[in-house]
Amino acid sequence: MHNEESRLHPITFIDPLAIDRPTYDRTVPARDSYQRRIDYLRISLTDRCNLRCVYCMPEVGMQFMPKDELLSNEELLRVVNACAQVGFRKIRLTGGEPTLRRDLVSLVAAIKAVPGIEHIAMTTNAVKLAPIAHQLKAAGLDRVNISIDSLDPQRFAQMTRGAKFADVWAGILAAEAAGLTPIKLNMVVVRGLNDHDVIDVAALTLTHDWDIRFIEVMPLSGVADVANDGVVASAELIGRIESEFGPIRDLGMHDADPAHRYRINGARGHLGFISSISEPFCSTCNRMRLTADGRLHLCLLRDNEVDLRGALRSGCDDDELMQIIRHAVYLKPWGHGLPDGVLPTLRGMSSLGG
Ligand code: SAM
Ligand code: SF4
Repeated sequence: MHNEESRLHPITFIDPLAIDRPTYDRTVPARDSYQRRIDYLRISLTDRCNLRCVYCMPEVGMQFMPKDELLSNEELLRVVNACAQVGFRKIRLTGGEPTLRRDLVSLVAAIKAVPGIEHIAMTTNAVKLAPIAHQLKAAGLDRVNISIDSLDPQRFAQMTRGAKFADVWAGILAAEAAGLTPIKLNMVVVRGLNDHDVIDVAALTLTHDWDIRFIEVMPLSGVADVANDGVVASAELIGRIESEFGPIRDLGMHDADPAHRYRINGARGHLGFISSISEPFCSTCNRMRLTADGRLHLCLLRDNEVDLRGALRSGCDDDELMQIIRHAVYLKPWGHGLPDGVLPTLRGMSSLGG
């Protein structure tokens, strides 16, 4: 089905073995039907997590995927190989919490060894990062993004429903010492919960060469109650930061990075604002997501998915796998439906990886 048609009649789940697919040119990097070059794969290694952040998961009642539904390391590496051959260059490991995946270090090494993969990053809550930061670096991990929603230990525990701030701070320092740099810290801002911590978190850039990224909370499955009234538009945050620190320098947006970057006068690090709700950045989107159960999720804020696990387990060969991935890239939608009230309903953020 042509992309235009698929937008009018959205198909959420595509079994690539059950549809007619064109044959794609094997010699050129994959592009979607809007000519966006897609070269960045975010892999959710598990949907499980040792935390229950208020903007990500409900406190109780989470149901996790049975183990046999997750891609094995072997299946995952087949997908990464095929993605690299169609033109993907950057991988991010995420979750759930990627540090819960056993043999994470050897998995990083195996992914880094795939010809064509140039860069691997990981997004983590850092609770379990400190003891393995050096091993991850040695295995080939380039850098990390660490979630930190407050510098106040009590509020931090409230936002994450139980994490110890000291563990996460130790994780950040260990990542920096291991050379997993530049360090990027993600803060999801929720009005009435942690929006007053923005100034303290921004002030970290005065003394540390870190990138702090303020993320507008998104209303994914299971957290709509927190997210719907909780969005603080980036423009409002910038206003608050400027009243504290004076005018901040606008450094613009770069390549496919969704963050609009700024710098406080005299600061060592940068501030970034990811405004998925107030200023979507679909025109520069270069990414797709692989869920822990092996589906290519075509747009974070839409439900459309292409089932790779089914294809792998039906015995498709590498050539067919590459053709399926090219087709999934081609089908990538343009634009999300939040302004029209169209919400993704299939998955929560913890099975998509952010
Ligand atoms: N557990 C890891 C972590 O927290 O960094 C990785 C997975 S987490 C789902 C990935 C990113 O998604 C984190 O930066 C997190 O803050 C962000 N996130 C989770 N729920 C969100 C929401 N409702 N809106 C915006 N960002 C969200
Ligand atoms: Fe876990 Fe990350 Fe979601 Fe927090 S944001 S509950 S750490 S997956």
